[in-house]
Amino acid sequence: MKVHSWGLLSNEEHQIELTDSNFKHSNAIGIPMGLGRSYGDAALNPGGAIWLTSALNHFIAFDEERGEFECEAGVSLREIQALIIPRGWNLPVTPGTQFVTVGGAIANDIHGKSHHTYGTFGDQVISLTLRRTDGSEMLCSPEQNSELFAATIGGIGLTGLITKARFALVRCTSPWIEMESSPFNNLSEFFELSKSSAIGWESSVAWIDCVGTKAGRGIFMRGNPAAKAESKKVKERQLGLPFTPPISLVNKATLRALNTGYFHLNKAKAGHSTVHYQSYFYPLDAISNWNRIYGPKGFYQYQSVIPHDRAESATQEMMATIASSGEGSFLAVLKVFGEKTPRGLLSFPMPGVTLALDFPNRGASTLELFAKLDEIVIRSGGRLYLAKDARMSRPMFETTYPNVSEFKKYRDPGISSAMSRRLLGA
Ligand SMILES: Cc1cc2nc3c(=O)[nH]c(=O)nc-3n(C[C@H](O)[C@H](O)[C@H](O)COP(=O)(O)OP(=O)(O)OC[C@H]3O[C@@H](n4cnc5c(N)ncnc54)[C@H](O)[C@@H]3O)c2cc1C
Repeated sequence: MKVHSWGLLSNEEHQIELTDSNFKHSNAIGIPMGLGRSYGDAALNPGGAIWLTSALNHFIAFDEERGEFECEAGVSLREIQALIIPRGWNLPVTPGTQFVTVGGAIANDIHGKSHHTYGTFGDQVISLTLRRTDGSEMLCSPEQNSELFAATIGGIGLTGLITKARFALVRCTSPWIEMESSPFNNLSEFFELSKSSAIGWESSVAWIDCVGTKAGRGIFMRGNPAAKAESKKVKERQLGLPFTPPISLVNKATLRALNTGYFHLNKAKAGHSTVHYQSYFYPLDAISNWNRIYGPKGFYQYQSVIPHDRAESATQEMMATIASSGEGSFLAVLKVFGEKTPRGLLSFPMPGVTLALDFPNRGASTLELFAKLDEIVIRSGGRLYLAKDARMSRPMFETTYPNVSEFKKYRDPGISSAMSRRLLGA
């Protein structure tokens, strides 16, 4: 069947194989796929097989004393949170959507708004079971098969199929978040707010306007788990785009209005509030298929990280480059990462600032902008996030990910993806 990833940039034929705990792959070279929330080609393999993990859907163990959870790799974070939050536990690290599997969270070593407090998802993993295409099955942990463990965390599915994992939870008293939001006028103010949130705030993130003369202003949000439950009722609202519009709804005509509207709306609401964890952490999940707003040509996400010493100047330069390019982004997110070095050989985070931007695919002009941004990222000692990437060059990957040759030793020769062929060769 035809398969696309979240960015909707391609839609090509794949052979689909359903995995379960006894999975034996066919002769086709394949790549595991969870919920397909990676934006680019990390889980795509046109002409080959995709090993869908949706049948790896069992909870295995929940140790409510120690705060440890074990499940199969196709279980989603949403399913886990629905079970554990009412029992006083939560996941320390989640991305901007709950529709992500445990296997996908490990294979991209995902990060979230709490990175400065807890690090990445991989930092929480106690052990995982890896099935290789030679039929072998290995338990990997920091103590056992530790090199393969480090290659599998952030290993974009290339070291084997993760069938199950055990990971640590954190205590929570309710599903509510005490949140504070503050408007800022420029990047310096953003960095001040981030600095003052590094201690005492479990999570933080900012939306930033990168269009026109007001580029650099934004809304800073930080939060802590609420100490007690709220009696407010939560409305479960799931809107959706029933079809793909013929053109991107995010375009030159709408961008300035979208950014200005968003800024003023949120500026007016600034201050303290108690909000449900789903609306705080996963606002986009309220609209299923929101990715369709970018129209039939799809969209790219460009997510970079820049080390601290160059963070402010490089972010400034990227914002200026975007503003003068005529391309624009509405979903622009800025976050300062904590100091923790991730475990994975190909993990993305480093101490510094990450900027994530969505751009409608306008063809050559969008790619020209990315080439200019790449140059800033490389020169500043940064890198791009593989979960979002669909077009980075192999030389850029090799320059910015220092452990590529070490990683290659642990690849499973029966696994390949569009991304691995693009970035690592055959
Ligand atoms: C709205 C939105 C917000 C997001 N926000 C963030 C964010 O804040 N932070 C962040 O880090 N990411 C974020 N992401 C990206 C997302 O967290 C990652 O792409 C994640 O890996 C997707 O999980 P998935 O289950 O959909 O995996 P897929 O996209 O299906 O696959 C991702 C990778 O994992 C591999 N994989 C999947 N399952 C297994 C398995 N069982 N064994 C081995 N390999 C496997 C695949 O081969 C592929 O390389 C966001 C994505 C969206 C759509």
